This record gives sequence, structure tokens and C-alpha cells, in this order.
Amino acid sequence: MPELPEVETVRQTLRQFILKQEILDIDVYYDKIINGDTKEFKRRLAHQHIQEIERVGKYLIFILDHDAFVSHLRMEGKYHIIDSDTPIDKHTHVVFHLSNHQDLRYMDTRKFGRMELVDVHHYLEQVPLKKLGKEPFDIEVKELYQLLHKSSLPIKTALLDQSIMAGIGNIYANEICFEMKIDPRTKASRLSKARVQELKDISVDVLTRAIKQGGTTIHSFDANGIHGLFQVELNAHGKKVCSSCGGPIKKIMLNQRGTYYCPLCQKRRY
Ligand SMILES: [Zn+2]
Repeated sequence: MPELPEVETVRQTLRQFILKQEILDIDVYYDKIINGDTKEFKRRLAHQHIQEIERVGKYLIFILDHDAFVSHLRMEGKYHIIDSDTPIDKHTHVVFHLSNHQDLRYMDTRKFGRMELVDVHHYLEQVPLKKLGKEPFDIEVKELYQLLHKSSLPIKTALLDQSIMAGIGNIYANEICFEMKIDPRTKASRLSKARVQELKDISVDVLTRAIKQGGTTIHSFDANGIHGLFQVELNAHGKKVCSSCGGPIKKIMLNQRGTYYCPLCQKRRY
């Protein structure tokens, strides 16, 4: 699933290609991708220009002349920019025909992604964005400490809770715990202020490095479309050997999510 750095890469890439384009018309091939009334979605957005693309957590917000819509890629969602006369493939569910004779096509093999009209001026106060916590870049340590202390979750699961902090998914949650040298099963409520400060700093650092790597590798689109997934340097997630001590990385399931950690390096609790 694309996380904050990947969605940011998608945002930056799309901006280079579709900003200021007019949406001439929209075809929706799979209604469920649109939350709300599909006809209304198509009618409202036609003939507006894409003025800006913003991102909050893992959500993209397309800002048009008078309206906006939120797009969440979920598991497999991706965008393609392609000539309008290219045949539509079976995984393409929404097509925005643009004034430059190209299409912005939304593809999603698993069909979990969603788009939704929101108020262009108040989208932050609307569902789904209003349920989100702050991003690691913006949250104050004091606030994060309080949220974690109200939580009964293990630290790694708390990192996935978008109402505590927005943007982190399974890959970066594993990486952050690795860099903190913390056992991912440690209760979030046991962390000291100093450890919460460290958690914020490491989260910012891990996400910033990933954005930089994405930003430097992805300047154009390949056949797979723009999904922002790129080869980041990972230390724990999906690994077999610890990059720090050379011991084996262990995989466990924690709240139904694959959790990778080094039992030797990540002994510390609290
Ligand atoms: Zn290790």
C-alpha cells in the first residue's frame, strides 16, 4: 500500500503533467470507486481546471476551480497519463479526459481505492480527512505523548493508527521501530517523553529520506503507471538479515499485520 512518501511522489509527479489542464469529461467504469453519486461527480467536475494537487497523510486532494475531490489509492491504486486514443484496459476504472488530448486514468487491480467530492475550501474539516491525526512533520511531541498514552495499542500498531498520526503504513512502521531499537510489541502508553521525542524525530527522518529517494528516482511514468512505489533502502521490512547486527530478522503477525524486527537489536522497551 502506498504510504505518505509514495503518495507524495505521485503528487509531485502528477503536478508536472496535469496542472492547469481542463477536465473535459469523465468516464467511470466501476461506480464503487466513487463515494457518493457518480453522476454528480462527473457533472460537477467537468469543465473545471486542475489548479493544484495537495496531499494529507495518504490522501491526494485535487483542487479544481470550484470543487475538489479526494483520492485514496488504498492497496493497488495508481494513475496513468496516456494519450486519449489508447484503448482502455480492464483495470481502468475512472478516466479524466483532459484538454491536452491526454487522459488521466485511474487503475486499480483490487478496486479498493476511492474518490470523493469535497468542499474546496473546507475539505480538511470533512470526512475522510477530518478523522486524520497530524502528520509526523506537524505533530507536537506533547500531543503525540498524550495520544500514545491514551492508547492501549502496541507501538507498531499505534503507528498505523491514522487518527494518532497520518501517513505511516506497515512498511515505515516496521522501519521506524527498527531505528528506535524498540520491540514493536511494546505498549505505546509506556513510552517516556524522551522516547516519544525520538519517535517523532525518527518518523520525520524516515519519511523525509523516502520522499527524497522517490523524488530522485521518479521523474516520468513507466508502463506500470504512477504509484510511487520505488526501491527504498529498507532495514527491517521484508528483510531476512539485520543490517545492523547480521542476525536474523523475525516476522510475526501483530494485529493481523506482518511485523518484521530484529530480536537482538530491538530488545529495548519503553
Ligand atoms: Zn540486529
